[in-house]
Amino acid sequence: MNDSDLERYSRQLLVPGFELEGQEALAAASVLIVGCGGLGALAAQYLAAAGIGELVLVDADRIELSNLPRQIAYTEDDIGRFKVEVLAERLGAMNSAMTVVHHSIAFDESSGLGLLSAVDAVVDGTDNHAARLLIDRFTVQSELPWFMGAAVQMAGQNIAFTGMREEGCYHCLAPEHVGDNNGGCAALGILGPVVATVALRQVLDVLAALTGVGTVPWGILRQYDFRANTTAALPLQRRAGCVVCDPDLKTPM
Ligand SMILES: [Zn+2]
Repeated sequence: MNDSDLERYSRQLLVPGFELEGQEALAAASVLIVGCGGLGALAAQYLAAAGIGELVLVDADRIELSNLPRQIAYTEDDIGRFKVEVLAERLGAMNSAMTVVHHSIAFDESSGLGLLSAVDAVVDGTDNHAARLLIDRFTVQSELPWFMGAAVQMAGQNIAFTGMREEGCYHCLAPEHVGDNNGGCAALGILGPVVATVALRQVLDVLAALTGVGTVPWGILRQYDFRANTTAALPLQRRAGCVVCDPDLKTPM
């Protein structure tokens, strides 16, 4: 770490438990951001600012006018461009020392495993149940931790899963047969600060996992009701017979 890095990161280097070791661990880490909307773009910005070594961005969408109230990485001039292209430019300008790789494709059955091959963790910035089920399955197979987040209207939730899923998995929480019951923010609406708060809870968990600064609440679902101003923390229960995480039933996928 050179003098410029020491100055740049001086405030976080002072945080007990983060310090030089945490900064170096962060600089050596690569994180995949699946979905670069309200959750993923903000998470990427904060990880870039903190000094992450590499981010891999995946999103097939282009920027729309209706994204701007919450996806604050993007501006009016960006409308029509791929989110990952614009975000990669912004992140590169924020922190020239980091590596940004971007793919304007969906995280799906054919692309998923390959995208996980060289990263240390995955941040969920998607907006649907099917994509999260896929992230869950592929990260079990790759033994990678992932950080789920979701938000709609005035509510949100997030949970962190270890690579080994001893705490249970997303399939235990929301099995395959449970469909998207929220309809997503396109149908039901969302406030910018709601999705941003959830994104930053994901980032705090990622920083704790990568650097050891703080305890990651693995397998604890945190639910935020911003209308009533309440938070609940519910420990996940591993579901016996879960095809993804039950050690007796784990099937090659
Ligand atoms: Zn499970």
